Amino acid sequence: MNSFTVKIVILCLFFFAEQLSAQSLDDLGYSFAEHIFNNARIVIGDGAVIEQGSLLVRDGTILAVGLASTIEIPDDTVSHDLSGKTIIPALVNTHAHLGWEAYGDWGSQFFTEENLTDHLYRHAYYGVGTIISTGSDQEEIAARIKLEQLRGNIAGAHYYQSPGMGSPGGGPNPRFTDDPNYWGVRPVADPEQAVRTVRELASSGYDIAKIWVDSRDERRGAKVKLAPAIYTAVLEAASNYDMRIIAHATTLSDHKSLVSIGARRFIHMPYDLEVDDEYLELVRENNVYIVPTLGMVTKREPYYIPAFQDPFFYDQVPISVLESLNSNYNPPPSSQSAESKQRSDMMARNLLKLKDHIILGTDAGAVGDFFGYADHVELELFVRMGMSPSEAIVAATSRAAEAFGLDNVGKLQAGRAADFVILDDNPLDDIRNSRQIHEVYLRGKKVDRSGLKQRWSQ
Ligand SMILES: [Zn+2]
Repeated sequence: MNSFTVKIVILCLFFFAEQLSAQSLDDLGYSFAEHIFNNARIVIGDGAVIEQGSLLVRDGTILAVGLASTIEIPDDTVSHDLSGKTIIPALVNTHAHLGWEAYGDWGSQFFTEENLTDHLYRHAYYGVGTIISTGSDQEEIAARIKLEQLRGNIAGAHYYQSPGMGSPGGGPNPRFTDDPNYWGVRPVADPEQAVRTVRELASSGYDIAKIWVDSRDERRGAKVKLAPAIYTAVLEAASNYDMRIIAHATTLSDHKSLVSIGARRFIHMPYDLEVDDEYLELVRENNVYIVPTLGMVTKREPYYIPAFQDPFFYDQVPISVLESLNSNYNPPPSSQSAESKQRSDMMARNLLKLKDHIILGTDAGAVGDFFGYADHVELELFVRMGMSPSEAIVAATSRAAEAFGLDNVGKLQAGRAADFVILDDNPLDDIRNSRQIHEVYLRGKKVDRSGLKQRWSQ
């Protein structure tokens, strides 16, 4: 080989190596060119809206948002005309249970790296950019997936896992705890164990954790609620490590007791009583965030539509799964009892009083709700119960991110991740337009929705 040929070969090798690395990284969710999305209605995520706006993106990050005339556009920028379309931030879901759902089956045996990854893609497909799985994940498998995602080897929704603590034998509902191979949650029987457990979690790198305050599974002897002395110890220890605790609690008295000693994040609203001024004052003063998880508690409402009857769900399952969901379905009574009507009216009143504190969470993967799909049902329920579409979107984006200090997502703002959803219709006119998904971008890379749909419908 003469030196000229050698040079050519070396140049070719460099060229292909470059191409290969750009190509493979691109497939994994990172794009390198600048892209500008023009003429769109841009719903920022904090309540603001820019009509006829532009969004400039590079390397997975938002460079600028505003009117095109105010943005300096680099040469070689790829331009996309989004006339008539609306851009919203990708949703942030703060309460789900990944890994157990197998679409046709369910259980701990499905908690594998492959299934967990699939659930991240299911969220991404529906425009959910960030997901916090709360207290039911197998920690070693979850940690490996998290690491692979940080390395850029797995795309999909950004995955956060919050390990759980509860009374010995407590934790999630019996559907989980009855599973013979269920790994359990970290038991905290007294304040000393609580402090030790928080310290262990912090040293393992966790900055979000969950506590179950309710007594959950009476059959397993865990009738004991988490005592105030124990959750006080958890919250105090967590504050030393900047660990964000989310508390599962469903009664007004537990909420009050928790907020007054520093709890700021809740799974579930008080369901037993109408919230009073004392509670509202506590919530306001302490800047509390509440995940009402309405989808879980409205299944007996007359307006409830099961997923298998909703075409928006069809994208992610084969016909056989729809058929089995249909045949296993136990429909609610055709007329609603006075008691159930009273309860749902109270829930709506509570939601409205708390609306400036509400954040998105679905409980999907635990109680028969489905990843990504359930997020849009929840948005619709927020509005059905009296929030405006704009308030519902804030709850599902910037406020949900803020609740957990995720300051890289939840808002379309320069410097944040380019996680956004392009909609064909305006969700501010009708929140159900959140379902009119044209494209989803996470970290600046378009999610391959048609490929995913094809894979899931087989
Ligand atoms: Zn849950």
